[in-house]
Amino acid sequence: MTMDVKAEPQHNKGSQECAGCGKRITERFLLQALDRYWHEDCLKCGCCDCRLGEVGSTLYTKANLILCRRDYLRLFGNTGYCAACAKVIPAFEMVMRARSNVYHLECFACQQCNHRFCVGDRFYLCENKILCEYDYEERLVFANMAYNPSSLAHLKRQASQLPVSRPPLAC
Ligand SMILES: [Zn+2]
Ligand SMILES: [Zn+2]
Ligand SMILES: [Zn+2]
Ligand SMILES: [Zn+2]
Repeated sequence: MTMDVKAEPQHNKGSQECAGCGKRITERFLLQALDRYWHEDCLKCGCCDCRLGEVGSTLYTKANLILCRRDYLRLFGNTGYCAACAKVIPAFEMVMRARSNVYHLECFACQQCNHRFCVGDRFYLCENKILCEYDYEERLVFANMAYNPSSLAHLKRQASQLPVSRPPLAC
């Protein structure tokens, strides 16, 4: 739920108590939000403590929490759908991003061999699939062979010179 912060002139019926600190508000104007009155300094985000006490600013409430827009979206919004498993990613979860795609951390792996990436590893986005360097290059080789069959012999010769086992990736 969102709420706008409004200012009201003090009525002569006596000053109001601040819903934040419980003290009387002696300023000429009262800030009104959530049907309660606040000191300018007392209307704060319950999460990051940033001030929300400005007229016209919008604050977000949920279960008696007052939040700024950023924290509200972080806690209760959705980040989107994981491009690998197609399930919702809650906004408070850490995500991996590749171009415009978002992924659950546990879903961010090579979609060919399930290799999990470490800091510094390269990955490729190929036909909207995440690939490790190894699978990406293999895919390129196959693509080249399909387009250019005469290079097959050349590729074979090249391949036979490569070490048999996959070199370990530095993690
Ligand atoms: Zn106060
Ligand atoms: Zn905040
Ligand atoms: Zn996922
Ligand atoms: Zn792979």
